Amino acid sequence: MSKVVVEKKGYFGEFGGSFVPKELQHVLNVLDENFQKYKDDEGFKKELDYYFREYVGRQSPLYFAENLTKQLDGAKIYLKREDLNHTGSHKINNVLGQILLAKRMGANRVIAETGAGQHGVATATACAMFGMDCTIYMGLEDTKRQALNVFRMELLGAKVIAVDKGQGRLKDAVDEAFADLVENYETTFYLLGSAVGPHPFPSMVKHFQSVISRESREQILEKEGKLPTAVLACVGGGSNAIGAFADYIADENVRLIGIEPDKAATLNEGTPGELHGFKCLVLQDADGNPLPTYSIAAGLDYPGAGPEHSHLKTIGRAEYVTVTNEEVLEAFQVLSKVEGIIPALESAHAVAYALKLAPSLSPEESIIINISGRGDKDVEQVFQMLTK
Ligand SMILES: *Cc1c(COP(=O)(O)O)cnc(C)c1O
Repeated sequence: MSKVVVEKKGYFGEFGGSFVPKELQHVLNVLDENFQKYKDDEGFKKELDYYFREYVGRQSPLYFAENLTKQLDGAKIYLKREDLNHTGSHKINNVLGQILLAKRMGANRVIAETGAGQHGVATATACAMFGMDCTIYMGLEDTKRQALNVFRMELLGAKVIAVDKGQGRLKDAVDEAFADLVENYETTFYLLGSAVGPHPFPSMVKHFQSVISRESREQILEKEGKLPTAVLACVGGGSNAIGAFADYIADENVRLIGIEPDKAATLNEGTPGELHGFKCLVLQDADGNPLPTYSIAAGLDYPGAGPEHSHLKTIGRAEYVTVTNEEVLEAFQVLSKVEGIIPALESAHAVAYALKLAPSLSPEESIIINISGRGDKDVEQVFQMLTK
């Protein structure tokens, strides 16, 4: 039996839980009841499978990166192509799962937070398709830096509210979204974007993202006849990584490796603390205030990480490592040139570590890199960084 179980409701070891005001706790309890009720419901699963297949384009390929494997002369490298999903990343998996739940719960209005805009765009996309009213909270500073994503969301029919409080960043957007939820819970569903936040969000987001490892496990067994030596994924809040790890957690000889930016190394350098209503490893100062983080990949720029990752790190079941900006930029270019696949800067973190790991392994072994998203959104930024 694996040690990795939810021991108390919503806890992974000492991490997770729910530290929120009473009114919000009531809303989260109702959400949890509905999630438990529908997650294994045959009709619900069938409908989600339908949209995964017909709208997202699942299953995503597990591509053998033959050129890169030859170049590195070590383990066989496989890429799980979440970048090929509709809207260009893994985020749509979670969005569709939660929006079907919202429909079952009778909500006609969806709200979400977004930092760089990726989760906001995925949410606005699904709301357009399901004819749901959609409001996206985004920090004022972020709306200025990501004006094109604001336009995308509006094009998809969403209302974007620029939050002019605090630093006008992701944290402030999350606070406003929770305040909206408490006020409007009878009609409104809060669609949270990563494996973070109070219970039941981390478990729910993991559940919907687990499709990644459910598929990749079958695919690698078919192609290799055995499990991989390691599964690699970048970690921001931790949703693509927990989805890529989920079905391997019980296979104790499969290494699970989460990759963080060296300037946002939550799981590598964080200590237990509380953030956004749950307990996790946090980069914090002596007074418990979150420290500023910096990543060239906007999706990884978060001072906390999901409670299950915090637990997997603490019990030693998963490894978490860091890479530098230079290594990420190099990996971004290598995958583009060698395989014709431009990865998201977030995903390039996982590629960067694979470039170091693969040569140390034997040709009989294989590794899977989760390519969480495509790099189109980052091409202009990389151009600026490489030419300045
Ligand atoms: C948002 C995002 C991430 C980071 O979020 P996680 O919840 O850690 O997966 C990683 N890759 C891409 C492409 C993203 O859009």
